[in-house]
Amino acid sequence: MYFEVHATGIVERAQAPDIAMLYRSYLAACRNGNMPRQADFDVPELPQFAAFLMRLEPVGDGVFRYSYYGSGITAVAQFDITGQTTADFEGPLRAFFERAYAQCIETGQPLFTIHRAIKANLVHTWERLLLPVRMADGAVAFIVYNRPREFEQDFLQAILNGLPDGLIAFRATREANGELSGAVVLSANPAACDMFQIENIEGQQLRTALPLLHDSAVWEALVRVISTRSRELVEVCHQHQGTPRYLRFQITPLFDGAMMHIADVTALTLANIVLEREHEQLRSEISRQQSEGDVLRGLAHSDALTGALNRRGLFAAADEWSRKRDACSVIAVDIDSFKLINDRYGHGVGDNAIREIASVLMDVANQHDGFVARLGGDEFICVVPELLAPATELAEQARVRISVNPLASALGPVMLTCSLGVAEWLPSSSFDVALQIADKALYRAKKDGRNRVVSGHEPGTMTEPVLSLRSRAS
Ligand code: GH3
Ligand code: MG
Repeated sequence: MYFEVHATGIVERAQAPDIAMLYRSYLAACRNGNMPRQADFDVPELPQFAAFLMRLEPVGDGVFRYSYYGSGITAVAQFDITGQTTADFEGPLRAFFERAYAQCIETGQPLFTIHRAIKANLVHTWERLLLPVRMADGAVAFIVYNRPREFEQDFLQAILNGLPDGLIAFRATREANGELSGAVVLSANPAACDMFQIENIEGQQLRTALPLLHDSAVWEALVRVISTRSRELVEVCHQHQGTPRYLRFQITPLFDGAMMHIADVTALTLANIVLEREHEQLRSEISRQQSEGDVLRGLAHSDALTGALNRRGLFAAADEWSRKRDACSVIAVDIDSFKLINDRYGHGVGDNAIREIASVLMDVANQHDGFVARLGGDEFICVVPELLAPATELAEQARVRISVNPLASALGPVMLTCSLGVAEWLPSSSFDVALQIADKALYRAKKDGRNRVVSGHEPGTMTEPVLSLRSRAS
């Protein structure tokens, strides 16, 4: 329940224009400030207001009987209470009515009230003008104007007027054969008029009122909405006062026409464009840094002289392999009597020898999906995904290729040989252990006369003696 009771400001507060007119007639009928006589101011005297008038006559104890109940009220309230009394109402509503009548009698002045009933039918909010009149027997009766307030319409109007987005309703105009010829504006809110700087848009052809619709995706969408009765969302960019303006049109069907909701999304779109550009710059900066990182990582893991991995690269690669490998072997390689080559042919030739041997080792290892690292000086490590026997065969191939291809130098061909030690990197064992065994086997190869391959085993994994391949080519 909601009530308002006003003794002043009646004309300003009333929504129905009838109330102001009736109030003025009432004041005119008052004589010397006294309330009019019922004989002078009653329903028959007020035919233009009669549909929304009620007459209430006292039956005692502050209760009133409805001796007249206008047809307009009946139509809206959907009941007719002629002959009933205020006592037929209950609770706060009855109390509100009787209090208002009592106040009117006490002051002898009209009252304007607004109330909202909980058990309303179609209408929730009523405005009323209570006009006390003196009956022939001296008692006070009431002529009451009672009308629903068009609250919902007010509410919608306020929304439309206050909305920052434009709204335009229009209907299709058609040729005699029913084909669409255009669209005529039915209504537009103030924001739409501001947006397109137009006045009195109602009744105009839509494309005349909004030239931007010519030749644009919006018009096509609008035609589709009218013909398919489905919604469309279109965004367009157009020049407005010398700068681009982005508008989002949401078009929904409305009878044989549509409603356009137009939002200015320029700020949002421009912010998005800037964000997208920054995002793109960030993406390319990240990828530049990533590739720089790759290069640096590559440099940090490789040997400058040969392009093979360095010690750090070897352990990083071994670490990676330790997670995915099955069978795998390690080959330790050392150039034979390299000091002599340096001494005899010079450091430059020595460097060439290192490069040449690295390239043979890398060729052999790469062909078998392995890799090569230079540990420094004239020592190399190859890792190949092979069991011990095939890995020993590969080591032998490398040894032979090196020994049969002398290196060219200014002082004539330089014979190169290497000693190689092979060990299987067992899944149960660490890379370091495999390296140590390969190293020991290499040491054996040196000790046994160099230019040979020796394979070693982890203690306890094999009973046979260490295998040694003598040079078959030399
Ligand atoms: P062994 O057969 O027992 O291996 O005898 P070796 O003379 O090869 O002895 P060792 O492997 O100990 O000698 C390695 C030599 O390699 C010592 C050093 O002068 C030389 N050396 C190390 N790094 C480089 C390099 O980058 N370039 C050149 N030209 N020589 C290097
Ligand atoms: Mg050596």
